[in-house]
Amino acid sequence: MIKAVILDIDGVLTNGKVTVDSEGRESKAVDFKDIDAVFEMKRRGIKVGLITGEATPITLFFKERFKPDFFYNGCKDKPRALAEIMAQTGYVGSEICYVGDAKYDIPVMKLVKYSACPANAISEVKALASIQLERNGGDGCIWELMERLNLRGTAGVSSFACKSCGALCTQPPVLDYPGQPAGAQHLPVPENADQDKPFDLSVFQCASCGLVQLNVAPVPYYREVIRAAAVSAEMAAFRTEQFAEFVQKHNLVGKKVLECGCGAGEFLPFMEQAGTVVTGMEYGENNVKKARAAGFQVERLFFDTGAERLQSGPFDAFYILNYLEHIPDLRACLAGIRGNLAPGAVGLIEVPNFEMLLARGMFMEFMRDHLYYFTVKSLSLLLETNGFDVLSAQPVFHDYVLSLQARLRAPIDFSVFAVAQQRLTGKLNALVEQYGGCRTAFWGASHQAFALLAFAGLHDKIKCIIDSAPFKQGCLSPATHIPIVAPDSLQPGDFDLLIVAAGGYSEEVAKLAREKFGRVLAIYILRENQLVNY
Ligand SMILES: [Zn+2]
Repeated sequence: MIKAVILDIDGVLTNGKVTVDSEGRESKAVDFKDIDAVFEMKRRGIKVGLITGEATPITLFFKERFKPDFFYNGCKDKPRALAEIMAQTGYVGSEICYVGDAKYDIPVMKLVKYSACPANAISEVKALASIQLERNGGDGCIWELMERLNLRGTAGVSSFACKSCGALCTQPPVLDYPGQPAGAQHLPVPENADQDKPFDLSVFQCASCGLVQLNVAPVPYYREVIRAAAVSAEMAAFRTEQFAEFVQKHNLVGKKVLECGCGAGEFLPFMEQAGTVVTGMEYGENNVKKARAAGFQVERLFFDTGAERLQSGPFDAFYILNYLEHIPDLRACLAGIRGNLAPGAVGLIEVPNFEMLLARGMFMEFMRDHLYYFTVKSLSLLLETNGFDVLSAQPVFHDYVLSLQARLRAPIDFSVFAVAQQRLTGKLNALVEQYGGCRTAFWGASHQAFALLAFAGLHDKIKCIIDSAPFKQGCLSPATHIPIVAPDSLQPGDFDLLIVAAGGYSEEVAKLAREKFGRVLAIYILRENQLVNY
């Protein structure tokens, strides 16, 4: 566990550039995210230190601003400063992360297990660093480091948003696998083996939706679908039968079907043979070329935001095979799919079956390439909360794969409200009109009465609203400003039409009104969406 993060200042917290104004004053830029990251790490119980070779008003500013646990200014012997920190805290090299960008940082980096550098560090530093950050110095690289290392601090607590449901995950990992491969593709070769660093894999489970997931920066090639081998004879037979059933079940012959993440088009022929008009979507450029060369329609696209649209859509169906588990932004991907579908569209969604891995203890299946480990339940929840109704779920292909079918959720038909509103306000307006201006009273200062009066636009045609609750009397109806009065303030003959809107008490109120105001008064009860003559 990392207990301390030690930072160089120039080129790490700043971009290494100095701005000098006309009076010779120097200034440097810092990213707010990095300031936040320092405070967040401290909050999590991680010690933060600054070791800089400079001794300027600016380095002293950092001391004041960050209040670091360790501060070495004008330090010409960084390894010695680190040794002091280690002696003082008792931390060993495997508990310290050092971030540097330049030549003077190299000897310190060699003393710790975790060394990181910003993207614009010198090449010697980059070759040595165990973590090469994607951001530059002074541009959020410390925040990135905190996220990538998933720094939990001595409190043993981390927090990140679940990639499926968005809930804050604060539990410690369920599995910790240090020293794992940093990716399963683009393998190192002897010439660049020194750049391949082991990767510490931590597996988490969301306490809200149950999704098992990693919290790491994705592999750089996540947008592309990489399928190792040609489709085996067994797989070919399986897809032929599966797609034929899918197409038949959902009447998809002659319909447009999208394969999201089609790779080099390995499965497009099977969907075409099943009688559909299939389009592939793929980001990998070589994949797109290959699939097009095989005569398939393929669009080069990735759903980064979910707003992307395919030219050949909308589609009546889609399928996504062993791709979802690679995608950092699940909700953007599913929004993208949704946005390219026709109403009522169906989908076939397949991911590796985590239930099988779990049942058989298949510990070698965890890898950085797979950000999620789905069960029927966690995948169903993901789909259900992203606009789909799950139709079926089953393990397939020797239980290795979880296969779900889902339908794009139909929007609710709200027209029933407009119809009822028009009917009731029409009837109410006609009644009020029939009895002439301001000869109508309501009984019941209820929210339904207030809403009905607002919908009907009757504010200047209603004499008053009667209500026996003293705290409402003397007030006005909201929006329409009709006076609310006590029953005793009115005499027979003050009004000719009474609308009773007193919910469950309406019958009782109508009876009372009949006794109090006599037989000439016309009384209607508001019952659900009807005005019923009493
Ligand atoms: Zn969740």
